[in-house]
Amino acid sequence: MKTSNLLLATQRENPSDAETVSHQLMIKAGLIRQVAAGIYNWLPTGKKVLRKVEEIIRKEMDSSGAQEILMPMVQPTSLWEESGRIQQYGKELLVFQDRHERSFCLGPTHEEVITDLCRNVIKSHRELPITLYQIQTKFRDEIRPRFGVMRSREFIMKDAYSFDLSPEGLDKSYSTMKEAYLNIFHNLGLEYRIVKADSGAIGGSDSEEFHILADSGEDLLAFSDSSDYAINAELLVELQDEQDPNSLEGKPSPDGKGNLLLKKGIEVGHIFKLGRKYSESLKLRVQGDDGDVYPEMGCYGIGASRIIAASIEQNHDEKGIIWPKSLCPYEVVIVEANPKKKESIKNTCEEVYELLASNNVDVLWDDRDKRPGVKFTDMELIGIPIMIIIGDKSTEDNKVEIKVRLEEKTERVSPQDILQKLSEIS
Ligand code: ATP
Ligand code: MG
Repeated sequence: MKTSNLLLATQRENPSDAETVSHQLMIKAGLIRQVAAGIYNWLPTGKKVLRKVEEIIRKEMDSSGAQEILMPMVQPTSLWEESGRIQQYGKELLVFQDRHERSFCLGPTHEEVITDLCRNVIKSHRELPITLYQIQTKFRDEIRPRFGVMRSREFIMKDAYSFDLSPEGLDKSYSTMKEAYLNIFHNLGLEYRIVKADSGAIGGSDSEEFHILADSGEDLLAFSDSSDYAINAELLVELQDEQDPNSLEGKPSPDGKGNLLLKKGIEVGHIFKLGRKYSESLKLRVQGDDGDVYPEMGCYGIGASRIIAASIEQNHDEKGIIWPKSLCPYEVVIVEANPKKKESIKNTCEEVYELLASNNVDVLWDDRDKRPGVKFTDMELIGIPIMIIIGDKSTEDNKVEIKVRLEEKTERVSPQDILQKLSEIS
């Protein structure tokens, strides 16, 4: 891809409404643009990163045996009346009427729709267990949308739902899904923690949250300094009748091992055991050997769009975004430092570009008619991990300059040694 054909949309000014670094950088690097409060366009660079997140998730979901489906974003509110959740969910549910004055809502989550689907298509216990998932747009009319796509009204979620014949079956599906989540967060390459959580409005018993650690996180997490014990501090405060979550620091860990440490996190995933809450209320029954059974359900969410903001909160510097290898929108950028538009420089760029592209390196060629300094600033802002600078000096010594985003020093290598050099760097 050449930048002259790409909607880069970078900007230098900090957007006035952006309070967090990730929100600022996502706008400045041209990843997103706001349409209305909590509603965003994803521009080409942002969409590319989003697709990477989705592919990492999809790969692990598929190999865990979950099957991908796609449910509608518009849901009849009659299903929410059946589940009894319509009142409880409150104003985050955006309700509207169609031309026949039938009531619908924009889906904030899909327990009702999936349970309705299963009661229509699953007849026999032999079809269970089953886990279905989708990666799709959700809408929650958040009271205070903020921090860009971190807490938006419209966002992309992976949601999965498991159906089992027994609580033991649910335990198994839940741990399969947890295993897939561990792989996903490992593959993302971000620092994260799993904590015990409150299951909140969605109902059910066991629940755990996956948090990306960042000082700007909205959630406070409490860990033991000597065991695996980890819990959302909010929940621990409730359990222990404490007032202030910050007072937990240094107190003995509830599992009797060591003392508590506190850290800030951003919730990016949540897994729950729902039990029979939705199968009973929506009357999803399957024929068992000894009569009908209401399946035991689990539900498993990941905030795909929030992961990108969280990744940036965790990894950035004064120049811009620092991507984990898994998420960088491009692996390498060729910076054509060619203010005089010399044919020889362009030819070397072309040659290197073809070499990288034909070796499956995801490469961007900054061929814009701009000063080199502007290009460096943009590419560091976007956070492309490796720059190959080709300019006047390259036509003299027949070498290109390689600069790694996080290192000060640069190195000059011959075009034929570039691939070798790149494999050493990454
Ligand atoms: P929060 O407490 O942050 O509002 P939640 O408990 O309401 O999250 P879930 O219902 O568990 O979230 O949704 C699954 C995942 O969807 C969350 O872990 C989070 O990553 C993501 N998510 C939820 N609300 C938003 C939002 N408004 N904007 C972006 N992502 C969101
Ligand atoms: Mg919420």
